[in-house]
Amino acid sequence: MQEKLSSEVLKKFDDVRANYFEILENISRAAEKADRSADDITFLAATKTVEPAVINYAVSLGLKYIGENKVQELLSKYDEYDLANCDLQFIGHLQSNKVRQIIDKVSLIQSVDSFKLANEISKQSIKNNITSNILIEVNIGREQNKSGVMKEELDELIEKISHLDNIKIKGLMTVPPICENKIEVCKFFDEMYKIFIDISAKTLDNVSMDYLSMGMSDDYEQAIISGANMVRIGSRLFGSRIYR
Ligand SMILES: *Cc1c(COP(=O)(O)O)cnc(C)c1O
Repeated sequence: MQEKLSSEVLKKFDDVRANYFEILENISRAAEKADRSADDITFLAATKTVEPAVINYAVSLGLKYIGENKVQELLSKYDEYDLANCDLQFIGHLQSNKVRQIIDKVSLIQSVDSFKLANEISKQSIKNNITSNILIEVNIGREQNKSGVMKEELDELIEKISHLDNIKIKGLMTVPPICENKIEVCKFFDEMYKIFIDISAKTLDNVSMDYLSMGMSDDYEQAIISGANMVRIGSRLFGSRIYR
């Protein structure tokens, strides 16, 4: 099978292998600092712009979770993912009218920030006779033009979604603002962790705060130290993205 791969891709494999094991070590070290086990941290690879051969190579190294952020790209790559050995999630902004295209293809939708979207996920899940797992995306930096619900609206949104059929809330996700330094980004991570703990203390049907998904290539170690148990890493694993 490998002789069909371009030399460009083969060169990439070596980088991905080195990056993958370096990230695992960094995750371990950060988890240790936070008095947690590396096994408690889910390492999801953000695979946008990455070709399936390279994604599957990372899966062959032990990567268990991959996430796409565009419906079109997910669909075009779908038949090529090694889904026997990894779990596919959706991490990008999702329009309600595209839910039905991915509903039976992903194990977790990380980016739900409105009742309208959740309601459509519920409807499509009923139709497909499945239960869908979601995370609620929080706009922790209160940025305009950014997805995510404001923290003040979070409790009400979760309560409303909890009454929908065939949908389960599994935690929270955030993409913090681009920060000048690690101290600044840690404030957002710490604030998210506090919100996560507060909601965990409540008992609501169909809601379990299993995942706090935050931290990307530049800040996943800080995120873990602040309490993240899922990190989404793209460029640090696959190299800088080339948009074709
Ligand atoms: C691309 C992406 C990431 C990973 O970004 P990197 O900085 O390349 O690690 C994480 N989360 C989401 C939602 C993304 O779209």
